[in-house]
Amino acid sequence: MITNTQDLKKILINKGIKPSYIRLKILEYLITKENHPTVDEIYQELKQIFPTLSKTTIYLNLNLFVKHNIVKSFNMDNNEQRFDFIKQEHINFFCEKCKKVYDIPVNEIKIEYQNNEHKIKETVLYLKGICKECFQFS
Ligand SMILES: [Zn+2]
Repeated sequence: MITNTQDLKKILINKGIKPSYIRLKILEYLITKENHPTVDEIYQELKQIFPTLSKTTIYLNLNLFVKHNIVKSFNMDNNEQRFDFIKQEHINFFCEKCKKVYDIPVNEIKIEYQNNEHKIKETVLYLKGICKECFQFS
């Protein structure tokens, strides 16, 4: 779990976003609470640290995160917009030799569905082979 400021900063810098204090706080809120908050819920919490904070500031920053795929936004039944941190997805790689399991970040693997007949919402797969350690010594 990402909780330290360095990791939070890295998430933003990797996306070319300046890691301002307020942005880090919003991100930290989303990651630690995992409660799919509304703008108002974030506002209620963060205004205790930033009395001058406006809901618009939170909203604009959340939209910036959404634009950069750091956060996803969705609507529940009551139509209130909610936000959620997008966890870095991993695909498991199993080594047949040492039986170790490695996590391969999804963004290092390119999977493209050429035929657009179906609407793909999720990809579930795993990789199997010989890991770099075993490969080196075989
Ligand atoms: Zn291995």
